[in-house]
Amino acid sequence: MVAEIRGLNEECGVFGVWGHQDASQITYYALHSLQHRGQEGTGIVVTDGETMQGKKGEGLVTDIFTAQSITELRGSGAIGHVRYSIGGADGYENVQPLLFRSQSGSLALCHNGNLMNGEALRHQLEGQGSIFQTTSDSEVLAHLIRRGGFSSLRDRVKYALSMLKGAYAFLIMTETELLVALDPHGMRPLSLGRIGDAYVVASETCAFDIVGAQFERDVLPGELIVINDEGLHSEILAKASSRTICAMEYIYFSRPDSNIRGINVHTARKKLGKQLARECPVEADVVTGVPDSSLSAAIGYAEESGIPYEMGLIKSRYVGRTFIEPSQSLREQGVKMKLSAVRGVVEGKRVAMVDDSFVRGTTGKRITHMLKEAGAEEVHVLISSPPIRYPCFYGIDTLTTKELIAANNTIEEIKEIIGADSLNFLSVEGMLKVLGCGHCLACFTGEYPTEIYPEYLRN
Ligand code: 5GP
Ligand code: SF4
Ligand code: MG
Repeated sequence: MVAEIRGLNEECGVFGVWGHQDASQITYYALHSLQHRGQEGTGIVVTDGETMQGKKGEGLVTDIFTAQSITELRGSGAIGHVRYSIGGADGYENVQPLLFRSQSGSLALCHNGNLMNGEALRHQLEGQGSIFQTTSDSEVLAHLIRRGGFSSLRDRVKYALSMLKGAYAFLIMTETELLVALDPHGMRPLSLGRIGDAYVVASETCAFDIVGAQFERDVLPGELIVINDEGLHSEILAKASSRTICAMEYIYFSRPDSNIRGINVHTARKKLGKQLARECPVEADVVTGVPDSSLSAAIGYAEESGIPYEMGLIKSRYVGRTFIEPSQSLREQGVKMKLSAVRGVVEGKRVAMVDDSFVRGTTGKRITHMLKEAGAEEVHVLISSPPIRYPCFYGIDTLTTKELIAANNTIEEIKEIIGADSLNFLSVEGMLKVLGCGHCLACFTGEYPTEIYPEYLRN
């Protein structure tokens, strides 16, 4: 089946803290460490137990917040978000946390993931009189919470969550409570920690390290956690038959210093690189990675193959991830700005270039070209994940099938397109050997762990 994503996909980072007098400062630092999960917008909402206030904007954490604006956000509870979006969901109003005010109190929420039935629910809610402030699917949850006819917030949230299909890690905050919810498949990472008596929750554990928090445990699939001044209450609302956390979190998205389900991301990537070396040996003089995300895999490949690891490519520190630019021509320019080949390392050499993933092939093509321009004799491209052939419906921008180079070309054809001397990918079996079971692998295999809503598929 030819499938296209309908846009509104986002890969984001969330952080929350409850019971700490420096809630906004802690959230600021935590969001800074989650910046790689989204660079388009960021925001923080705080509560002092009686009122809630927030600040948000389009840009990086360091662009949006100043020391003064953080000091002005007073309170002991906070939630924050870093946002990455594509296709129609940009703009200030879509920057999270979303903050809703009403006579009965305020509600703030932020979301990492993608609601498969977001559009259907929005139509339904609009038909019943709801007026949406944003084009983000996340707002649907707020409307469902408001409409649920139960007296307690917890029950209203439970009702609202039961309506959702898809992938979500939600943080919801009122003046007096912080609620944390993960979808029944546990598709997105979410962990719980402590700083003294205070609770923290984050998309990645690297956010705990930066604020001196202790990791306590991962949030469980289908779990709803309610934290207030009385403590923490947890219940499992719904559980899928298995946890299917996104494999791409290990391969590309998360920071190497984060642990997901107790596994360090750098270590997992290194093992993927080692497995790749066992499956796809090449004759080369040096191994190089593509900074930063594939360095761990390249180190693993070098270690296993015995070919020396060298810094064949360097990255400018001052350019963000290449996916942020919207158009293909800008994206290609972005890749050029971002990376340079180190002539002194690659000249006259057979280079094994290890990258973590292959989406459009833009990076592979540019880098092969760049290495050859810098005098590399041969460039062997090695990808430490299988070819991405299917779109993602769970909050990751793998775009439409049309744009996925491996969905439309054979490996041999891609090798020609990118101008490499050889091109090899890790096998699905090899990836499973390293990561174990319990992952979503849908963009590689086409086997989606959840039902796919028809509005997501277009011919
Ligand atoms: P491509 O250049 O083939 O379109 O994308 C793959 C390259 O972009 C890899 O080097 C990977 O590290 C990087 N990349 C940037 N953003 C993303 C993303 O959202 N998903 C994946 N899989 N790779 C991405
Ligand atoms: Fe992750 Fe791919 Fe599954 Fe999307 S389809 S959740 S990117 S593994
Ligand atoms: Mg990369």
